[in-house]
Amino acid sequence: DPGAPRRLAVVTGAAGGIGAATARRLSLDGFRVLCVDVPAASEALEALAARIGGEALPLDLTAEATPAALAAAIAAQGPLDLMVHNAGITRDRTLARMSAAEWDSVLTVNLAAILAIDEALDARSLWRDGAREVCLSSISGIAGNAGQTNYSASKAGVIGYVTRRADQLRDRGITVNAVAPGFIETAMTGRMPMMIREAGRRLNSLKQGGRPDDVAEAIAFLASPQAQPLSGEVLRVCGQSLLG
Ligand code: NAD
Repeated sequence: DPGAPRRLAVVTGAAGGIGAATARRLSLDGFRVLCVDVPAASEALEALAARIGGEALPLDLTAEATPAALAAAIAAQGPLDLMVHNAGITRDRTLARMSAAEWDSVLTVNLAAILAIDEALDARSLWRDGAREVCLSSISGIAGNAGQTNYSASKAGVIGYVTRRADQLRDRGITVNAVAPGFIETAMTGRMPMMIREAGRRLNSLKQGGRPDDVAEAIAFLASPQAQPLSGEVLRVCGQSLLG
């Protein structure tokens, strides 16, 4: 219904591969998308927001003021129908060589930032009843991945978080789910050594890396009315076996 008011969504990491594909996909489903990413990416963010009739919010998720700033932006036009916690980073290193800073930064962006934002939105009651929340986990968070102990721990943490939060919000009809992609061709995986990329593609049943649009499609499904009964689930995307 083109006359219906657009539902409000937030996508973090919206300047990245999966985030941009998701923001575009959600706009086709009639969402007004608030696109969040680091200020350094604001040019790409502005271009995306302009293209999909959304809004660019250049915010670093590790900054202390960010949850309140995001809550204020939502409060001005909310309530919120969909939150997609998609921003994420890798700092790959064998565990023996991994610095405390590499461990902390990954756990902070990939896991703690989700909690900080949700707490700020909960405190101001910004969720519409029946709203949806989708968090990016990873196959790494289920099966583990060599050189990614910090990343695997953060993505396993996302699954624990989603499981618990789904129970907390069940009474309000708010669903909370995780999407766990396999190897997807984005800037994140493009930075990985050739051997790792080839292994990622080999593991995929299609013998090629997944596309950001594949993940966006799964997120759009979890945001759809049809997915209302699904909460606390982990939806794996990309034809990858857990056995490697
Ligand atoms: P990407 O690097 O293309 O995009 C990630 C985005 O997050 C970037 O635009 C980046 O600027 C943003 N970001 C990082 N730190 C931020 C911060 N502090 N504040 C705000 N924004 C920040 O990577 P992607 O592959 O699109 O990854 C998206 C999500 O999917 C991540 O959570 C990632 O862990 C997850 N994932 C990716 C793959 C894959 O194979 N690419 C597989 C499984 C899960």
